[in-house]
This record gives sequence, C-alpha cells and structure tokens, in this order.
Amino acid sequence: MTAKPLKFIFVTGGVLSGLGKGLSSAAIGSLLEARGLKVNFLKLDPYLNVDPGTMNPIQHGEVYVTEDGVETDLDLGHYERFTHMEANSRNNVTAGRVYDSVIGKERRGEYLGGTVQVIPHVTDEIKERIHKAGENVDLLIVEVGGTVGDIESLPFLEAIRQFRADVGRENVCNVHLALVPFIAAVGELKTKPLQHSVKELQSVGIAPDIILCRTDRYLPRSVKSKIGLFCNVDEDAVVTAKDVDNIYELPLAFNEEGLDEKITRVLGIWTGAPNLGAWEGLIRSLKAPEAEVRIAMVGKYVDLSDAYKSLNEALYHGGIGNRCSVKIDYLDSEKLTDTAVLSRAHGILVPHGFGSRGAAGKIEAVRYAREQKIPFFGICFGMQICVIEFARNVAGLKSANSTEVDASTPHPVIDFMSEQREIEGTGGTMRLGGYPCSLREGTVAHSAYGTFDISERHRHRYEFNPEYRERLENAGLMLSGSSPDGKLVEVVEISDHPWFLGSQFHPEFKSTPFAPHPLFVSFIRAARSRSDRLEH
Ligand code: GLN
Repeated sequence: MTAKPLKFIFVTGGVLSGLGKGLSSAAIGSLLEARGLKVNFLKLDPYLNVDPGTMNPIQHGEVYVTEDGVETDLDLGHYERFTHMEANSRNNVTAGRVYDSVIGKERRGEYLGGTVQVIPHVTDEIKERIHKAGENVDLLIVEVGGTVGDIESLPFLEAIRQFRADVGRENVCNVHLALVPFIAAVGELKTKPLQHSVKELQSVGIAPDIILCRTDRYLPRSVKSKIGLFCNVDEDAVVTAKDVDNIYELPLAFNEEGLDEKITRVLGIWTGAPNLGAWEGLIRSLKAPEAEVRIAMVGKYVDLSDAYKSLNEALYHGGIGNRCSVKIDYLDSEKLTDTAVLSRAHGILVPHGFGSRGAAGKIEAVRYAREQKIPFFGICFGMQICVIEFARNVAGLKSANSTEVDASTPHPVIDFMSEQREIEGTGGTMRLGGYPCSLREGTVAHSAYGTFDISERHRHRYEFNPEYRERLENAGLMLSGSSPDGKLVEVVEISDHPWFLGSQFHPEFKSTPFAPHPLFVSFIRAARSRSDRLEH
C-alpha cells in the first residue's frame, strides 16, 4: 500500500498587512483537523532577524515561546490555540535563519566551489524546511508573512512556485487573503486592490486556487463572480472572510462559506463532514456570559495589545472557564501616578517586561493590589516585581530591587544566578522553553493545578535570588513552586489575600479556549467574586 501523499496549503496575503493571515491559517487548520486530518503549520517570515527574540514587541507584537525553547512569531500561538499542533523550532523560519544557514554551508565549503545564489541555494533551503515541517502529518499549512509585492518575500514565493511542480499540482492549494474595502462615499465594495495583488502573485508564477476576501460585510454574488472572472478562479473559490466579533467564530464562519469543503476538493482529499460540535459549544458559551470582569493590565507595551497576545487570550479563556466575559484595561506603568484608577478593577495583572523603564509604576500597582486585597497575578517580570515590592514594603529591605533595574542595589532580591554570570557574554543566558516545577501542598497554585508536578514555559534572564529566600519567607512570602531540585523559585504567593500569585514562567502560552489554563481560571474566579461583590 502506498502512503497517502502529504498535502500542502500555502497562504499568502495582499494589499496590506494585518488582515489576519495567521488567524485565517489557524482557522483553516482547525476545520481540517475537525475533518480528521493531522495538521501542522509553518510560518515563513521574510525579515532578516534570525528569530524575533531581539525585536521590540511594540513593533512586532509578542514573542511566542515554544516548548523546546525557541522564540518565534506570535502566529504560532494562534496555531496552538486553534488546533492540537505542538509548536517547536521547525514551525517558524525567517529569511535571516535561511541565509544564516546558507552562508554557514558556504563557509564550510559544502557548495563545492559553486557560486551561491538565491536560486537554487536559498530556495532549496526554504523547500527543505517546508518538507521538514511536513513530516508525520497529513497536511501542512504554510503561512507566508508580509504582503505580496514586498522585495523581501520574493525568495519565499519563488520557493513555493517551484514546490508545486516538485510535489505535484494536486497536492498543493494556494490561498490568497486580500482586502475588499467598502467605500462609504460611493456605497460600494471595491475589488481593484485585490485584483492588483492577485496580478502581483501571478507575475511570480503563483495562481491562487482560493481567494479569501477580508471585508466588513458579506460579498454579494455579483462581486464574487467579478473577482472570480478577473482573478481566474471559480466563483465558489471566492470566500468571504468577514470581520467577526470574536476570533473563535472564524472556523464556523469559514465553514458556512464552504471554505473547508472547497479546500478538500482542490486537494482531492476524501473526508466526512467536519465535527464542529466543540466549536459550536464554545461560541454558545462565549455569547451568553453571566457576568463581565474587568482586569487592569499594568505594563509597558500597552500601545499595541498584540504585544500581550497570548496573555489576552489566556485571560479570555479564564473567562470561558468561569462563564464570564473579560474586559482588559491597559494601563501604561510609566504614567501610573495615581493608583486610585485601579480601585474599579476586579483583578490586576502585571505582565512580562524587560528593562527598568516603568518598573516604579508596576511596583505601586502591586502594592495597591496587595494592600487593597484585589486579586493579583504577576507574570515573569510581574512576579519579580512582586518579590521586590514585598521585600521593600513588608520585609523592610527599603531599596530592594532587581539588578536589571538597579545594578547597584544593596538588596538584589532578583539577580543573575552565579552559573549565569560565568557564561555571560556568550549570549546564552536566557532561560527559554518548558521547565518542570514542583508545587507545595496547601497553596493556591497547587489547588488550581490539582497536581504537584507541572511544566511551564520560560523566557527570562533574572531569577529570585536564593540568598534572600529565608528573609522573605520569614516575612510571610510563600514560595509555592520551585524547580524540582529546589534551587529556583518559580511561584510566589501571599496568604491573607483573596488571590495573590506571581509566576516566573509564562502560563499563558499553554492556555487554549478548550482547555483554559488552571491559573487563569483560578484568577478570573477570584476576580469574578470581587465583581459580584462590587456590582451587587
Ligand atoms: N526582564 C526579566 C528577566 O529577564 C523578565 C523577563 C520577562 O518578563 N519575560 O528576567
């Protein structure tokens, strides 16, 4: 018996960026998974950074961390939240990584004296990575970052063009997502920008099989047939990707438009109808919340909520677990001069962060939450801020700090570990990816997880300084989670408070709408109790 051929979907975007290619890819994956296929994803990013780890979150959005400790594009978060794929280093490839590897091979003489060129060397490298990401699955969805027409994405598009010839036309489906704006002044949907982006795509030899039209309304038949005619696709291959109230409505909206059916026809895949019961149940519960809780997020990257993408989603998931909706108010920690603005919040959260800017405002937010007994969640830098605040205001270590914020603090309660100091300078000091953690009985963390042994993902350099362990514990800080060898403090809590917890790890990376993360469910439950008390 011959093995089933692996199928590929390539998703490109046109007209402008930010149309939701990542979410569309994730939603397509969820529909094909619901038809029984094993799905994987690959995000190709055309920029020259080797990975997004060094990029400013305000420019690029969140850096998503995989279980195997790679800093990747935030679209991998969508893929993991919408499907059962487990992201790893193979699922995100940047142009920088491709060139890095090609140049490395050139230096080692692996091209045997040949002239190294974009075609075939760079394109071969890209194709090899596509094949790797497609190992052991039925279907690989490849999302090409950027917009068709950008200079940077050309080698990727060329690789994709060749790919179809390599693996057989019948095994590839090209999906192109572009904007179809409604121009109010003339009361018309305009298809010209989309036509131009399809032309651009065709000029590099790629013909779309399916066109996803991002719009604010359903496309009438006449508009679909016009697009079909000008872009050389069937009318039923023109699919409306209308704005949705909630991103989790996307799979059902696509299914109603017949998108998954059309994809299976293009790819010659025989499956039954998708089983969408879980998605339907999710949307029913999202549409009928019993209450709304307001969470104040006090951070530094509040101008771009994409900088906290997974965190936002994990909070919403916590809402799903408590039959309530969650509204997030973003507060800039640098401008937080009067903590009274926090009094209306049902819960306060201090997220991850780097550098000293805005740390003072975060410390004040933690103090307010602790003293006013407002449910509080500190994540990564947010947990380190909890430790600093507690050291200063409860344990009496007046100018306690993290050496990241003040290198000459007399009380470095957060610091580099001595092992890290030795390898400093090699750039290998960041703790990244999944690490095991043991929880202590009788703590909020233990009761939320319902187990002693957990594993969560990390992305940080600094750690709780073990020299201050005893003093802070004696002053009442509860160290509720630590690395199995007991050396690293991973979770802190205080008692005599409705809910106050800081985690050195990032639990948000493991939350999905179908399996909301236990810490977020527990936090939102506490916030919901406060909301019930305040509002009734
Ligand atoms: N800046 C802190 C560190 O490097 C925290 C990092 C984070 O919040 N992800 O340890």
